[in-house]
Amino acid sequence: STPSSYIGRFAPTPSGYLHFGSLIAALASYLDARAVGGRWLLRMEDLDPPREMPGAQTAILRALEAYGFQWDGEMVRQSDRLDVYNTVIERLRQDGHAYACTCSRKQLQAFAGLYPGFCREAGRDTPDAAIRLRVPDRTYSFNDRVQGPYSQDLGREVGDFVIRRRDGLIAYQLAVVLDDAWQGITDIVRGADLLDSTPRQLFLQELLGLPRPRYLHVPLIIQPDGHKLGKRYRSPPLQPAEATPLLLRALRALGQTTPSELTDALPDEVLTWATAHWNAERIPRCRTLAESQLR
Ligand code: GLU
Ligand code: ZN
Repeated sequence: STPSSYIGRFAPTPSGYLHFGSLIAALASYLDARAVGGRWLLRMEDLDPPREMPGAQTAILRALEAYGFQWDGEMVRQSDRLDVYNTVIERLRQDGHAYACTCSRKQLQAFAGLYPGFCREAGRDTPDAAIRLRVPDRTYSFNDRVQGPYSQDLGREVGDFVIRRRDGLIAYQLAVVLDDAWQGITDIVRGADLLDSTPRQLFLQELLGLPRPRYLHVPLIIQPDGHKLGKRYRSPPLQPAEATPLLLRALRALGQTTPSELTDALPDEVLTWATAHWNAERIPRCRTLAESQLR
């Protein structure tokens, strides 16, 4: 392949097995990178040990292999980078961008998820305080390659958000921004459930002086009852024996054509064909797709 500056990634959370929705995110990020001769990296987002499912990391790697995905370099684990995250958090506190918050869940209950700012001025620095980021009264906008223009007023719609929980767990928003920059990611391709996280990530990039990648959010697969297709609703884990038919189904969900010759192809043959024919313009421009409507 031709030299390319494109660097993409797939960043699963090991709270469960990969399912059809994760396959669509993995496939879209893989094809978008490989179609231009770019690199495709794998990052395990294992920041939450209590919610990690035993054996999930291995199962995710085995599933990716069985479905023909080859990643570049060594997989990165977020659990190996806790010192980096904590160092950045200390710097943000020293610079006044972040502060300690000792509010109890009960105190915050009445505010519908929007932090009322109780600790903004006089944060008490106890060992079990959460750390919050001071959010500007500003709108952050970007132009998603599939979903189009998207903006969010961080002050009014999100508020000061937690970057380290009381129990010391690092928040996804901070880790993802640091790691995408550290790994040199140029293009983020992921599920549309993360569309409304993106403005927080744009703000963090700006605050930390990090480059802003391009974004492409693929539709989320939902079940007819409107639930997200995910571990909570027990969608079946990806089975190795179903690799080819599920890859073809995922390709059709992404608006790509699938010639009938591929029905008997091996997974890596499907990926090779799909890479050569990838057209991101054909991805449906919607936030969700009903599973029942997929061929
Ligand atoms: N780890 C996140 C998830 O599995 C994805 C993070 C991302 O792609 O930015 O939902
Ligand atoms: Zn507080």
